[in-house]
Amino acid sequence: LEREAWAARFEEGRTRDGHRVEVAANLGNTAHTADAVERGAEGVGLLRTEFIFMAHSQAPDLETQIGEYKEAMDALNGLPLVARTLDVGGDKPLPYWPVPQEDNPFLGLRGIRLALTQPEVLETQLRALLLAAAGGDNRPGRPLRIMLPMVKDIAEFRAAKAIFDRLLEEIPAEQRATDVQLGVMIEVPSCALLAPTLAAEVDFFSVGTNDLTQYTLAIDRGHPALSAQSDGLHPAVLRLIQMTVDAAHAHGKWVGVCGELASDAQAVPVLVGLGVDELSVSARQVPMVKARLRDFDLADAKAQAELALAQATSDDVRNALEVR
Ligand code: PEP
Ligand code: MG
Repeated sequence: LEREAWAARFEEGRTRDGHRVEVAANLGNTAHTADAVERGAEGVGLLRTEFIFMAHSQAPDLETQIGEYKEAMDALNGLPLVARTLDVGGDKPLPYWPVPQEDNPFLGLRGIRLALTQPEVLETQLRALLLAAAGGDNRPGRPLRIMLPMVKDIAEFRAAKAIFDRLLEEIPAEQRATDVQLGVMIEVPSCALLAPTLAAEVDFFSVGTNDLTQYTLAIDRGHPALSAQSDGLHPAVLRLIQMTVDAAHAHGKWVGVCGELASDAQAVPVLVGLGVDELSVSARQVPMVKARLRDFDLADAKAQAELALAQATSDDVRNALEVR
C-alpha cells in the first residue's frame, strides 16, 4: 500500500469520486520545500515562520527574510505558499523577544497579540513576503497566502490587515505579490463561534486543530499525562470546524486544516465530509493522505461527518467511525 501511495503521489488530491481536496505540506524550514514537492505536496499549507526567526540570534532583517521566502517560492515553482506570520509566545519562545513572566503563557501574550505589540516586526515580515512573491524575468508573480496565528476576533484581524493594506498601497504592484490573500487561523474557539462575522472580511481560514483542541477542551497540548485525552476528533472541536466551514463557504471562502488532525486516517473523511477544502500535513505524510482520500466517496465522507458530530466524546467518535 505504501508503495502504491508513493507511486501515485503526484496525482491531485481527490476522493474516489473526484471531489477535489488539496494536500499541502507543513514546513518549518524553507530548505525542505523541494523535498515536500518531491513527496507530492500541492503547495505549502503552513510555513511556520517562527522557525526562521529562531534560527537567528536576532530578528532577521528584510533582505534575509526575502531570501528565505524566495527559497520556498522558487522550489514551489508556482504552487501556493501559505505563510503564517510569526507565532511566538506560549509553547514557542523566541530568546530575543522576551515575554514578561506570565502565570499562564498559553493564555498570555502570544501569536498575533504579541506581534501587534511590535507592529514594525510584523510590517517587515509582511513586506518581505509581498516582495519575495513579485514576478520578474518573464516569470509571473507567485501565489501567496498569508495567515495570522491565534486571532481571537475580528479586531485583531483588522489591526493586521491595516498594515497589510498600507503595504499594498505603498509598494508598486509590479514589485510585489499580486495573487495574495490574507486569512486567519482558527485556533481559538471564539473565532470559530464568530466565523460568520470573520468570513465576510478574511480571504480564507486555516484551522489549527492543535491549539483549537487545546483551547476547546482546556487541556495543555503538551501535558505529559493529559495530552492523550486532547483528541481533535472530539465532537465539540468538530462542531467548531463545521461552523467555520459553513460560514466560509457561505461567503465563497476556502478552509484548510493544518493541525495534526489533518493527517489522522480516521479524521480525513470526517474533515472532507465537513467541507474542508485543503489538508496540510507533514511532508512525509502527503502520499498517505492522498491515498486515504482515494479510499472514499464524498457521500461516505458526509455520512462519517454526520456520525461523528452526533457522538458525545472523542472515544465515541473513534469507535463509531470506520476503523482504518
Ligand atoms: C495548530 O495549532 O494546530 C497549528 C497548526 O499551529 P502550531 O502547531 O504551530 O501551533
Ligand atoms: Mg497553533
